[in-house]
Amino acid sequence: GVTQSTAIVYGLTLIVLACPCAFVIATPVSVVSSITAAAREGIVITGGVHLETLADATVALFDKTGTVTTGVLSVTDVVGFDGTDPTEVLAVAAAIESDSTHPIARAIWAAGDAAGLQLRAPTAVESTTGVGIAGVVGTERYRIGKPDAFALERPASVTPLDTAAIDGPVERIDRDVVAPLEAAGKTVVLLADAGGPVGAVALADTPRPDAAETIAALGRSGLGTTALLTGDNERAAAAIAAAAGIDTVHAGLLPDEKLALVEAYQADGATVVMFGDGVNDAPALAAADVGVAMGARGTDIAIDAADITLLDDGFAQTGRLRRLAVATRRVIRQNIGAALLVKALLAVGVPFGLVPIWAAVLIGDAGMTIAVTSNALRLRSVS
Ligand code: ADP
Ligand code: MG
Repeated sequence: GVTQSTAIVYGLTLIVLACPCAFVIATPVSVVSSITAAAREGIVITGGVHLETLADATVALFDKTGTVTTGVLSVTDVVGFDGTDPTEVLAVAAAIESDSTHPIARAIWAAGDAAGLQLRAPTAVESTTGVGIAGVVGTERYRIGKPDAFALERPASVTPLDTAAIDGPVERIDRDVVAPLEAAGKTVVLLADAGGPVGAVALADTPRPDAAETIAALGRSGLGTTALLTGDNERAAAAIAAAAGIDTVHAGLLPDEKLALVEAYQADGATVVMFGDGVNDAPALAAADVGVAMGARGTDIAIDAADITLLDDGFAQTGRLRRLAVATRRVIRQNIGAALLVKALLAVGVPFGLVPIWAAVLIGDAGMTIAVTSNALRLRSVS
């Protein structure tokens, strides 16, 4: 039989083993270790919960321009319609874009500058996110933006029987100018005055050099679906998606439609991580289960809307982030599992007199707390 004093010692030993210290710190110590490791790599994570959600993500959505691509576009073609001088098209386009920080605007502005054009200051500039920008240059009001935005400018008299009118200026521009340039993977914007389109500017963008490799690794890390979201045209989007190894393309999206798409994936039961850089991505970044902003060139609005910001101007950090999230989840599970196991084994040994109270204190309580902390600190070296 067990004497009363032995019973009291066994009871005290079990109370020591029941101390939840190791469990209580298992998660926070891992999360803090990860967030610190991430910060050292230029990844700013605003809360531990985002790491957990990221580890559970099943769908990754990527904005195209500035996220999957470098966002440093270059002007490849300038076309003037109906005898308009291409140089004048570039000069007006560059003038209107001179206030905008959109990647398209920067490229057009830079091309105008490189061509040695004297840029006139625009007035009454109004930009429409995801569509284009308008302003007065000289005495004329111009608009520049995505070709779709001009599609409604057919003559009002068009009827299905009037073939000449159906093949009117807008259709001709699309067939002869826009479609071939887009088929080459370029982004095309039209410049219009009050009378309709007067010219086109085509721009080329390239995927970030490490995009394909990183996205392939994200796929191997258990992300089921990758999709490209863009306000740009379908053909340019498909070319970039193919180069970056992204499965699905959603093109021609307005900012609200990017948001609606995030919600549609969520309604399907997906946990969505969204990567974006622009003003046009902000609603989708905010709605996603985890929003990640490409911070180096990204806009402040995108950074504000996101949960995580990548400060490097590269794509590799997206892969590092996911590895860290998965490793953090693994370490948390290891910590809780090991603490449970060790405490349970020790507790089973107590009634047999196998576990002296000093062992319960040193191994079961302080020992496990140290073990859990050391395990969490390993997250510092995940890269
Ligand atoms: P993405 O989703 O690829 O980041 P955006 O939503 O910013 O692209 O833009 C979508 C489209 O809207 C562009 O491809 C372009 O046709 C047009 N656009 C947006 N901003 C501008 C601008 N400043 N100048 C000309 N076109 C623009
Ligand atoms: Mg973008």
